[in-house]
Amino acid sequence: MSQLALLGGPAVKTKPFPVWPHYDEREQQALTEVLESRLWWRTDGTRVTQFEQDFAAFHDAKHGIAITNGTHALEVALAALGVGPGDEVIVPDATFVATASAVLFCGAMPVMVDIRRDTECIDPDLVEAAITPRTVGVIPVHLGGHPADLDRLVQLTSDRDLFLLEDCAHAHGSEWNGKKVGTHGIAGTFSFQSSKLMTAGEGGIIVTNDDEVERNLRSVHDCGRLPGEWFYSHYAYGSNYRLSEWQGAVLSVQLERLEEQTARRDTNSQLLDQLLAEIAGITPQARDTRCTRNGHYAYIFHVDPQEFAGISIERFIEAMNAEGIPNQAAYPQVHQLDMFQNGAYKTRLCPDQAAGEHAFLKGSFPNSLRAATEDYWVPQYCLLGDDQDMREIVVAIQKVQEQAENLA
Ligand SMILES: *Cc1c(COP(=O)(O)O)cnc(C)c1O
Repeated sequence: MSQLALLGGPAVKTKPFPVWPHYDEREQQALTEVLESRLWWRTDGTRVTQFEQDFAAFHDAKHGIAITNGTHALEVALAALGVGPGDEVIVPDATFVATASAVLFCGAMPVMVDIRRDTECIDPDLVEAAITPRTVGVIPVHLGGHPADLDRLVQLTSDRDLFLLEDCAHAHGSEWNGKKVGTHGIAGTFSFQSSKLMTAGEGGIIVTNDDEVERNLRSVHDCGRLPGEWFYSHYAYGSNYRLSEWQGAVLSVQLERLEEQTARRDTNSQLLDQLLAEIAGITPQARDTRCTRNGHYAYIFHVDPQEFAGISIERFIEAMNAEGIPNQAAYPQVHQLDMFQNGAYKTRLCPDQAAGEHAFLKGSFPNSLRAATEDYWVPQYCLLGDDQDMREIVVAIQKVQEQAENLA
């Protein structure tokens, strides 16, 4: 095999991966139509409303409420569910900060628990152990598109009258037991930020089957208004989280591609699972048999340094990037983020909660640590490539492994 690209040899990848995001004349036409209609605001327009209905239908949900972004979708959902000071909400320690910060935004305490070593999603046993009299709900994250154990989570939250809010920011189109993610609990939130599985640059949506929750969500996201009521009547505390018609128009076209793109990502990721099983020291994120479809925000695998001459993950990533294989950084552990370690998070809590013991912040989270420090994430757009693209990812790993001594 040729020399490592990092050391001056030729890169494995000669044909680039597909570019992201995708667009064609349909987005251009939709945007022109919005422009010329002069209806740029969802309140007068129809694009966002149409998108909400189509996205909800795609996810077998009764309602969709479009929101400015995925972080706001979590904030609006938690506010609409009545989360407030004194409450605790259980979240995984391996996620983007928003899953936890949205809880703080509502003045409540996010309680981090570790993930499972195999699926890298929140561990239901640890969720159960973390429940206290203050606990009001759980937010599982379907990491990399793989659903958390929704059987266990639905059971344990409904038994205790807690809400289950799915953070589906990675999981557009994912299914658990043949049912799309988003409505296994009371609601689900999605993001349309530029790296996500469909995008308008920014954007988000909340799906729910519950009419009462939908009414609250609509009100919170539109300054406390209620649909059909006088414009300057504000029934509850809310803010402006409305999506624009530009974004609604683009997202409607993006949604038309989702089915086909999800199928391709899922097929390619299963090919990678098969090929990577042959390489010592590479362990892909496990796929539960109840995951009947994985939207695949990323293809995640663990790298055992011992099988790579003891090199660090940073060195491995550098070598892979040089071979033409991109990666996106794994999340740092949430409880280790500065705002938790320096105490800044307490400014969001009511005094008695801020003064309380948050011993879990000093706890041990071996699986989220392993995920944060030894995982490689292949971005979702790479999974839109062909067979050869997948095989080249594998060849690059083999090449780095064979010559890892030279990187040590
Ligand atoms: C991207 C993301 C969010 C937030 O979405 P934004 O649209 O970027 O605000 C929330 N949770 C997870 C797990 C995410 O990956």
